Amino acid sequence: MIVIGAGFAGLAAAEALARGGVEVEVLEARDRVGGRVWSVPFAGGVVERGAEFVLPHDETVIATADRLGLTLARKGTLYGWREPRGAGAVTIDQVAEAMPRLSAGLESAGRADGTVARALAGSSLDPHIAVAIAARTEVSCAYGAEDLDASVLRAGASAFGRFDSFSFAGGNACLAEALAKRLPPVRFDAPVRRLSWSAEAGVRASTEVAELTADAAVVAVPASVLEAIEFDPPLPADKYTANRGVRYGQAAKLFVGLRAPAPPSQTLSVPDRFWCYTQLDRGARPAPFLAAFAGSLAALERLEIGRGPRTWLHRLASLRPDLALNQQQLMLSRWDDDPWVRGAYSARSSRSPMDTAALVRALGPLAFAGEHTAGEWHGLMEGALRSGERAARDLLAAY
Ligand SMILES: Cc1cc2nc3c(=O)[nH]c(=O)nc-3n(C[C@H](O)[C@H](O)[C@H](O)COP(=O)(O)OP(=O)(O)OC[C@H]3O[C@@H](n4cnc5c(N)ncnc54)[C@H](O)[C@@H]3O)c2cc1C
Repeated sequence: MIVIGAGFAGLAAAEALARGGVEVEVLEARDRVGGRVWSVPFAGGVVERGAEFVLPHDETVIATADRLGLTLARKGTLYGWREPRGAGAVTIDQVAEAMPRLSAGLESAGRADGTVARALAGSSLDPHIAVAIAARTEVSCAYGAEDLDASVLRAGASAFGRFDSFSFAGGNACLAEALAKRLPPVRFDAPVRRLSWSAEAGVRASTEVAELTADAAVVAVPASVLEAIEFDPPLPADKYTANRGVRYGQAAKLFVGLRAPAPPSQTLSVPDRFWCYTQLDRGARPAPFLAAFAGSLAALERLEIGRGPRTWLHRLASLRPDLALNQQQLMLSRWDDDPWVRGAYSARSSRSPMDTAALVRALGPLAFAGEHTAGEWHGLMEGALRSGERAARDLLAAY
């Protein structure tokens, strides 16, 4: 079978198919595995240009790590406990205390069908607390509150708290590499341009240099770039519309070296819609860098990331005057201009809700995977792995 895309979803599918005794070929557009998981050296350590946080509820990530003998290192960063700044004198305790009340209020009023902006405006919360919640939600979802479905407030209530966070020791890309090691060599620089398919003849995947045929395929590329593949016959209207309808959040990260490593901490800039954090290295010592994550298109524009890291760096320095930033040691990571995703991750849009049933539905010999197909787990490494395993299960059952 063929797997298109060597992100977590494609690799999870390929490895599950291989475990099921199927011969697989993986075609990947980039020159590396991992997709939106991309670990690189920085300031003597490793940073995550893309997906970073593994949280306690990420059962499939944790089980896969165990199965492959990989270690998850505790970061010390409290992902769910970001001290808000720039929203009056609001504290994280006030925000954390308001979240369950807000989410319960939405539940009982049966009002989870609007947007986050509307839900907050209609709540009786102190306006500063409401703005801090909007900021935290926009950052995490990488999407503006004016079109973000209010259901994220219910789901997101569990993302507030003092729970541990983890990354893979050596970088999250270790998981992708460990999965790939169990497969025949991935074909890199091999974007699939055309995919012919029929229930009788199976599939034919064409890249610029090769054509591969197989009984079936897993299409594990983001919905945002699916249209770059010419399907023959074309995708049926509902599948096409469902893919087109997936909205992507926009996010960027900035890493800055620290002249003096600092213990774990986490601070949210409410007006600028980014948070920054320090963390432990894999040896449980304070890591010598500060990481920042900005979420939503408006945040990226406000921070002028199109012009480079300067504006953001300036805001970071004012947000954390307590840290000794090495302004010469910088790395900006963008995903909006990445040709193989053009965004960060799928967002729960109110105007254009994700049609998970149509996104998941197989078409003859084609199964579909990727975080955007993972229902409540969308937007996460957990969702990507789950979706790949689900696609493999479906194909193993059918063939
Ligand atoms: C900045 C950022 C921060 C994040 N933080 C977190 C986090 O802390 N925790 C978390 O759980 N998740 C996080 N995520 C989300 C997480 O990265 C994704 O949910 C997950 O990695 C998606 O995996 P995927 O396999 O579905 O897609 P991808 O990783 O995008 O993989 C798809 C692959 O398909 C390839 N491809 C595309 N088109 C073609 C083609 N035509 N032919 C062949 N190959 C093709 C791509 O190159 C790519 O390698 C973050 C993402 C970003 C961008």
